[in-house]
Amino acid sequence: MIKYIYNYIKMKKYNFNPGPSILPKEVIEATAAACLDFQGSGLSLMETSHRAKNFQPVVDEAVALFKELLDIPEGYSVIFLGGGASLQFCMVPFNLLEKKAAYLNTGVWATKAEKEAKLFGEVVEVASSKDKNFTYIPRDFEIPTDADYLHVTTNNTIYGTELLHDVDSPIPVVADMSSDIFSRPLDVSKYGIIYGGAQKNLSMAGVTFVIIKEDLLGKVSRQIPTMLDYRTHVKKGSMFNTPPVVPIYCALENLKWIKRQGGVKAMEKLAIERAKIIYDEIDRNKLFMGTAEVDSRSRMNLTFVMVPEYQELQDEFLAFASEKGMVGVKGHRDVGGFRASCYNAMSIEGCQALAACMKEFEAKH
Ligand code: PLP
Repeated sequence: MIKYIYNYIKMKKYNFNPGPSILPKEVIEATAAACLDFQGSGLSLMETSHRAKNFQPVVDEAVALFKELLDIPEGYSVIFLGGGASLQFCMVPFNLLEKKAAYLNTGVWATKAEKEAKLFGEVVEVASSKDKNFTYIPRDFEIPTDADYLHVTTNNTIYGTELLHDVDSPIPVVADMSSDIFSRPLDVSKYGIIYGGAQKNLSMAGVTFVIIKEDLLGKVSRQIPTMLDYRTHVKKGSMFNTPPVVPIYCALENLKWIKRQGGVKAMEKLAIERAKIIYDEIDRNKLFMGTAEVDSRSRMNLTFVMVPEYQELQDEFLAFASEKGMVGVKGHRDVGGFRASCYNAMSIEGCQALAACMKEFEAKH
């Protein structure tokens, strides 16, 4: 353990990876400790049964913290599943799409979700920002009132765009919040389902969260395989089959950490502060420019490129940033350039270090 902590400090790296991504040091340490000895039981968490008396409270507390931190109203369940957000792309229409669904297309993940829905019924694309390589969030679109739900991806991890308000909709809203959950307060009552892979703002990879309004279930006429039916997991409290115990424990530690920091309001304040530091530098620095339209900029994934005159400096900057301890700032291949992913655990100091690194690189050129 001491060796692990020593290595962690020695590295002094700033983790800007898009996911799996940075987690608070305390959360990693608590999870690592539980993997060595779970609550003094003499067993590793990895060899502990999900049905063990000391594991059920982990799930119960994680669910309770989800409800407390996001102020989830009565009538909603929180479940933990496997399969990643990608499995939700098909579980959502399997469970909710009777005739028609509406999708807002804001990027690759939204497109993938839409593609799965087409297997189950008619899909109306209410708007798309594909015309400009998904650099903005479409604002004006009409939501068909006869659709079963509207699907949105609130944060577009690849393109660095984010829908920062809860959509008012006459039909249930289903939101993929894989990369911005717990980064701002939400009005959960405006959503039918909120889901996401855990590996950004919630936990390590391996668990998927789903917040679901119970009265939406059981309305489609098709047969749903047991494992893909939300009702199975709601009824069994995420224990229908073996859940990923370590990622759920890690999620619990992270939820406790978020609470200690002051909850989602505090997370939002920090997210605004972090994003300002980096976007201000992108806008000031003669070498760089942002890729997303300003009013659609994400606080979680900050995308930028070299301005055309300095395009040839891209690899040099990546090498320079890496030498300064910046990890994971290479942009996704669909956008190019750079992406600084600043999830909840990213410190203000980390963002200042990246901004200083950009400044120093500018001074060299
Ligand atoms: N949705 C969004 C917004 C994502 O960023 C990702 C992964 O990065 C996914 C879905 C896919 O998640 P998973 O790998 O858990 O299936």
